[in-house]
Amino acid sequence: MNFKKKRRGLCLLAAHCLVAGAIAQKAGPIKFTVSMPEPANHTFHVAMDLPAGEGDSTRLKLPDWQPGYYQLMDYASSIDKLVVKNENGNALRWVKSGKNGWTVAAKGAHMLHAEYDVKTTRKFVATSYLDEEHGYITPVSMFMHEAGKLQRPSEVTIKPLHGWNRVATGLDSVPDKAFTYVAPDFDLLYDSPLLVGNLEELPAFEVKGIPHRFIGYKLGDFDKVKLMSDIQRIVEKASSLMGDIPYKHYTFIAIGPGQGGIEHLNSTTISFSGDQLNTRGWNGMLGFITHEYFHHYNVKRIRPIELGPFNYDKGSKTNMLWVSEGLTVYYEPLIMRAAGLMGEQEFLDFFKKQITNVETKPGRLFQTLAQASAETWSDGPFGRTGDAVNKTISYYQKGPVVGMLFDLAIRHETKNKRSLDDVMRKLYQDFYIKKGRGFTEEELRATIESVAGKNLDELFSYIYTTAEPDYRKYLGYAGLEIDVTTEKHFGTFAITKKASPNALELEIFKGWSRGE
Ligand SMILES: [Zn+2]
Repeated sequence: MNFKKKRRGLCLLAAHCLVAGAIAQKAGPIKFTVSMPEPANHTFHVAMDLPAGEGDSTRLKLPDWQPGYYQLMDYASSIDKLVVKNENGNALRWVKSGKNGWTVAAKGAHMLHAEYDVKTTRKFVATSYLDEEHGYITPVSMFMHEAGKLQRPSEVTIKPLHGWNRVATGLDSVPDKAFTYVAPDFDLLYDSPLLVGNLEELPAFEVKGIPHRFIGYKLGDFDKVKLMSDIQRIVEKASSLMGDIPYKHYTFIAIGPGQGGIEHLNSTTISFSGDQLNTRGWNGMLGFITHEYFHHYNVKRIRPIELGPFNYDKGSKTNMLWVSEGLTVYYEPLIMRAAGLMGEQEFLDFFKKQITNVETKPGRLFQTLAQASAETWSDGPFGRTGDAVNKTISYYQKGPVVGMLFDLAIRHETKNKRSLDDVMRKLYQDFYIKKGRGFTEEELRATIESVAGKNLDELFSYIYTTAEPDYRKYLGYAGLEIDVTTEKHFGTFAITKKASPNALELEIFKGWSRGE
C-alpha cells in the first residue's frame, strides 16, 4: 500500500458515495414543511427539499385547478418570496415560466431547497386559508412539483400554531413523526386537503372494519351522536349498493361555515357548522354529505376518461359531468331513502323540485346536458350569470332528472330485474377495477344499453339535444302521474301515484323508491 494509491482509493470512494447519495435522495420523498408564522396576514410558509432536475435547469410547477372544482384558479399568483438554493446554500436564479411555472438555473446542483410564502384570501373548499384560529391547506395551491415528475412520493410536515391540537386529512400519517404525512405520488397529494387547528373529532365508526372519521373546526352544538349514526347508515347503504369499499380509511373534514364541498378518494371537505343544520335542515345537510361521500365512487373511481390523469395546466374538459355530478345528485335521495332517513313524500318531492327546476328555466331550450358539462369551465358549475343566464342549464338539476328516467326505463325494460345501480356497478367493475381507467361516451352508452338490453336512443336525445323529456311515459313505468300542462304555469309539477297501478308498476315503484 502506498500513499498515492490510498488517496486515489479514497477519491473513488468519495465519488461513489456522492453518486450513491444522490441516487438515494432522488428515490426518496420530496419533503415539504408548512409553517404559519403570519396567521394574521393569512400567509403560510413552505419549505421544500427535492433533487435537482437532470439538465441545466429545473422547472417547478403548481396545478392551475382543483379536480372536483372545474374552474381555472390561478393558484400560482398566490406564491410570494420564492427563494431557491443548492445543497451548499447558494441562492439560484429563477424566472417565472408560463402561468404556473418557475424555471430554476440549477446547473451543477444535486439538491434544491426552496422556500416560499402562500398568501390566502378566501375561505373556500378549493382554496387554502389561514387565520389565527385554523388553517386549511388545498395541496394544489401549496405544494410545487417538478414538471413531468408527478409520480414522485412526498412527505409533508405541518407545524401547527401553538395550542392547535390536530390535523385532519385523508393522507397516511408517519408513525413517530408528529403531524407528518406521506403520499405515494402527487396525484394523491393533490387529492388530500389538510385542516389544521383546535379541531373536534366526533365518535368514529367502522363499516366492514374500515374506520370513518369526522373531524372539524367550529362544529357547533347539535346532536353529534345522531349525526354520526345517520352518516354510518349512509355509508353502509352506499357501500352495499356498490359492493366494495376501496379505501383503508375515510375522513369527513368539516371546515365550519362556508360554501360547498369537494370530494376526494378517501376524504371530503365540507362546509359545515351546527348552525347550518338549522338553516339547511338536518336532511339537507345529510343529502349534501351523501353527495360528497358517494362521489368517492362516482367521479373519483367511476369516471369519464378525461378526468384522470388530469391536465393540471389547462383543466380536463368532459361532456359527462351530467354523469359525475348529475347522477351523484340522483343517488342522494335513493341512498337516504334506503338508509331510512327519507320518507316517501319527501322522496317524490325531491324529483318534483328537480323537474320544476329544469322545466321552468328557458336555458333548457338552448343548451344540452353534454354542452353544459363541457362548458362549465367558462359558464361556471351552476350556469352563467348575468345576461347569459337564460341560455344555459345546470347539470346538477337536469342530470338527476335524466338519471331518474334512465333508471325507470331500465327497470321497465328488464321487468324490474335491473336498474341504474347495475350500470354503476358495471362501470366500477369494468373500468375502474379491471381496466384502471375511465370510460368514453361510447363505452358509457354501451354499458347502459347492455344493462337495459335495449337501444335507448330517446333517452340519449335528452343528453345531446334539447328535446323535452317524456316525463309521463317514464314516470308512468313506476305507477306515477305527472301534470306537465296545467301546473307548468304555476312553476311546479305535481307527481302523484296512479289510482290503480299494474303489478309491474307497483314493483318498480317499490324498488326505485326503496319502499316496503
Ligand atoms: Zn358533486
